[in-house]
Amino acid sequence: MEKVLEVKDLHVSFTTYGGEVKAVRGVSFDLHKGETLAIVGESGCGKSVTSQSIMRLIPQPPGRITQGTVLFKGKDLTKASEPEMRKIRGADISMIFQDPMTALNPTLTVGDQIMEGIIQHKKVSKAEARKQAVDMLNLVGIPSPTERLKQYPHQFSGGMRQRIVIAMALVCQPEVLIADEPTTALDVTIQAQILNLFKDIQKKTGVSIIIITHDLGVVAQVADRVAVMYAGKIVESGNRREIFYRGEHPYTKGLLNSVPRLDLEDEELVPIIGSPPDLFSPPTGCAFAARCEYAMEVCERLYPMKTRLSEEHHVDCWLQDPRAPKPIKTVISTI
Ligand code: SF4
Ligand code: MG
Repeated sequence: MEKVLEVKDLHVSFTTYGGEVKAVRGVSFDLHKGETLAIVGESGCGKSVTSQSIMRLIPQPPGRITQGTVLFKGKDLTKASEPEMRKIRGADISMIFQDPMTALNPTLTVGDQIMEGIIQHKKVSKAEARKQAVDMLNLVGIPSPTERLKQYPHQFSGGMRQRIVIAMALVCQPEVLIADEPTTALDVTIQAQILNLFKDIQKKTGVSIIIITHDLGVVAQVADRVAVMYAGKIVESGNRREIFYRGEHPYTKGLLNSVPRLDLEDEELVPIIGSPPDLFSPPTGCAFAARCEYAMEVCERLYPMKTRLSEEHHVDCWLQDPRAPKPIKTVISTI
């Protein structure tokens, strides 16, 4: 499948009074045409910083991409100039955020806001921009679009506002849409509708989507592939079935055990005990070791190799690492 975006060995740091926070520590992944990749993990794992770095939206300073490349159509975005990035943002790669209100200007009509993007990037007449804005509202499922274009954001419900934000992100037919917790602020039924809308739009337009979430329910509903992030690294990745049914990393298993499953009655939900490590001085070995019930001596000393379990399924864990000391199942439990 055609690669739209290739992120290779991305490192991002933030300089703070307390020292350098290494928020992203060697993240690599590909995004293929027409697929949805979910990046999942707890807050602070680096998933939002990763997506903002792709768009070069991290505040610099204090943020800094210290290493790695982000290839979009053969161009390394980490080296692009700010004017080049301005052309790419919105037109080629679009981003939407959790809270639709922050993306919308309360003093302008919805129509003016959608049309602004069209006029800016496509250099078309106002009449043509209006026509395209109506088409976009149709695409995202807003009824009576011609009338609704004249209304202000506060005249729409939360779910409708998120649809408008999605319309704005899609007006220039970007190849990549990055959605950072796009449904977290919405209630569950609206959440499901918005996630269905993503799938629907993808079918119609072929857009590739990166969805950033802490919610495995969202992942289950939309993702083709999943990257599980922990303490600034992708610790496991695979297609959705591999992650949900054959997830091997103890952190992935912990995430799966901490959410309810509809197919199991009387199941016991087990939260992951402890908290992620301090990223001022990240551990040299596996960052999950302090919370992992399978941690071995080697885990704290050395970072495991990325081990290939199938064509798409990879995991960074000594339990799967062929170099692991034998016998592998010697468990030095930390609990
Ligand atoms: Fe646990 Fe070791 Fe695997 Fe890390 S590498 S997840 S500590 S078993
Ligand atoms: Mg975030």
